[in-house]
Amino acid sequence: MSFRSILGIILFIALAVSFAFVVISITYLRGQLSALFPYELALEVDHQLQILLIGQAVALLVLGIVLMIAIFWIVGSLVAVPLRKLTAAMDLYTKDGTRAPIEGIQDAPLEIRSLAGSFDGLINRVDDSHKRDSEISRVKSDFISTAAHQFRTPLTGIRWALEALQKEQLTESQMALVTSAVDKSKDLVGIVGTLLDISAIESGKYKYVFVPVDTVSLVSKLVLDFAPLAQTNQVSLFFAHEQGTVIPDARADVERIKWVLNNLIENALTYTPVGGSVRVSIEAAEQRIFIRVKDTGIGITGEDRGNIFERFYRAPNAIAKQNKGNGLGLYIARTIATDHGGDLNFTPNTEGPGTTFTLSLPIA
Ligand code: ADP
Repeated sequence: MSFRSILGIILFIALAVSFAFVVISITYLRGQLSALFPYELALEVDHQLQILLIGQAVALLVLGIVLMIAIFWIVGSLVAVPLRKLTAAMDLYTKDGTRAPIEGIQDAPLEIRSLAGSFDGLINRVDDSHKRDSEISRVKSDFISTAAHQFRTPLTGIRWALEALQKEQLTESQMALVTSAVDKSKDLVGIVGTLLDISAIESGKYKYVFVPVDTVSLVSKLVLDFAPLAQTNQVSLFFAHEQGTVIPDARADVERIKWVLNNLIENALTYTPVGGSVRVSIEAAEQRIFIRVKDTGIGITGEDRGNIFERFYRAPNAIAKQNKGNGLGLYIARTIATDHGGDLNFTPNTEGPGTTFTLSLPIA
């Protein structure tokens, strides 16, 4: 209920009570006086009292209307309008951070002006801490990016040197050591690449080239590429796609979406025990394409469900199954999905163990 309506109701009740009081007093007076006068005179007195009653009623009505107009005008211009302007400015700032000047409140009562002042002070504080956060985040991203660049060159050199060493005549145990060192240097180069991706995402430098993408041929190729890993892990991997089902092109950056799908399939194969399965499927609905990666693996439980898209988060059951991993893949993957105007989410399987990750992308 608005401020004006409340005042209107109070005024109406006050007038109604005054009117009732006048009616009761005059009726009582009529009763008393009619007993004091002879019949003829009593009629005349009664008539005069009726005129008085009507006069009082009209006077109260006129007074009420005048008071109502005056109060509505005063309350409206001094209180309701400035409060509405203040609320509109607050709503705008809450919605998208736009800071609009609150004009025309210099004549408002002191309390409203100080409320506007406090609001201004609050916004200044929020803006300041936002600027500070952005600055800290920029420095952090710059640091990660510089450190990762510094690491990349020597690491690539080490990797090449080790790969060259692999081609030399080595004893079996030397070869085993060098091969393990090559694998580790590849992992390190991968981690450095991920750190560079993170700093690019956080500094807004992650650029996309959106084109129409045939997700059916992209996914079938990726599933083929993962066949060796599936075999090593003894997990069956298949693309459930019926021949002839038409899936419209998605609007996507091929390399980035390939990266996301690689991550989802690799996770599914990694976190599914021997004998399990990973099923990839595609469905089109409501201007979107849904790519699902469903596994029969270890699943995501309890509080981990709210955390797995956080940077560096790895669930305890995942660490127990595979100690290699940095917990950055899903964070980057979801950022890429939302930057496409899509999304990345997961649901625990209902009919058995495991998880289904769903990547949605807009249709081209
Ligand atoms: P990483 O796999 O390197 O740990 P990710 O960011 O890709 O990093 O995944 C984050 C965490 O999400 C994993 O450590 C694991 O706890 C959980 N997770 C991801 N995919 C699966 C999956 N298919 N099944 C179970 N847990 C998963």
